[in-house]
Amino acid sequence: MKSLYGVIGSPIAHSMSPLIHNDAFLQNGMDAHYHAFHVEPDQLETAVAGMRALGINGFNVTIPHKEAIIPLLDSVDDAALQIGAVNTVVNRDGELIGYNTDGRGFVEALKEVVKLKDKHVLIIGAGGAARAILFTLALEKGVQIDICNRTVSKAEDLIREFSLERITRSITVDQAAREIQRYDVVVQTTSVGMYPKINDIPLPLKSIKQHAVFTDIIYNPIETKLLQEAKAIGAITQNGIHMFAYQAALAFEIWTGKFPDTVRMKKLVEEHLGGKTC
Ligand code: NAP
Repeated sequence: MKSLYGVIGSPIAHSMSPLIHNDAFLQNGMDAHYHAFHVEPDQLETAVAGMRALGINGFNVTIPHKEAIIPLLDSVDDAALQIGAVNTVVNRDGELIGYNTDGRGFVEALKEVVKLKDKHVLIIGAGGAARAILFTLALEKGVQIDICNRTVSKAEDLIREFSLERITRSITVDQAAREIQRYDVVVQTTSVGMYPKINDIPLPLKSIKQHAVFTDIIYNPIETKLLQEAKAIGAITQNGIHMFAYQAALAFEIWTGKFPDTVRMKKLVEEHLGGKTC
């Protein structure tokens, strides 16, 4: 019998997850199908009951359900519980188990371009994605992390909640802009610069540290204004397609035990978005 997978969210029509997961099933010779389901918040509980009743093998969870789904599951992996968000659910013999592959997906992608040990990292933003990224990055040996966010108190709350005071501090966006040459790695996690406001930039850039890596988790546009400017003054850059592919690949691995071809996944997303990866 065909295995069934999917993603629930709202909005969901433009999700690229069906594209890459259905291709990965084909590539791995699996008789499976992945479908995008539009689910409004007031239908989440019913939708999860439906997944359970129909025996759906696994599904992704996206905005706005990543937090709200937690109490509806039978168990949740420790990291996802601490992050407070689930983006992947697997159905193991009728038990729905939640995971978070966003943080690990981000870090695995970043490791393709930089060794993180002892690096000084700036995270711009303190929203949902930054939460998963901070939690996971902080597990890397020797990293020092500064976070700047428009709403400073949100970054302070995050650091306190994760008890990361020893290796992390909250700074203002102005301070981050002034001291940008200090950072080996700059991680952009806000929605600033996302389509349609593609000329927005979260902070002004003058000079940067030599060999600095700039990564932006936005993938529409493929290359944000921040990445364009950073690249123009010598940074190594990585766009949001990489994190997107890795979080999907890790979800696929949880469901099937197989790790798919992330290069192929990235290429499919790139082609779909009609541009080139940086
Ligand atoms: P979120 O929880 O709503 O957080 C939004 C963040 O952006 C907050 O830090 C917020 O600051 C900041 N922000 C929003 N508008 C701003 C503005 N005008 N000026 C300055 N800061 C602003 O969103 P999220 O779920 O973290 O997602 C953030 C971005 O990441 C989105 O573009 C999303 O598409 C992308 N994303 C990509 C992936 C991937 O796989 N590549 C995965 C997840 C998310 P305040 O706290 O001050 O409001």
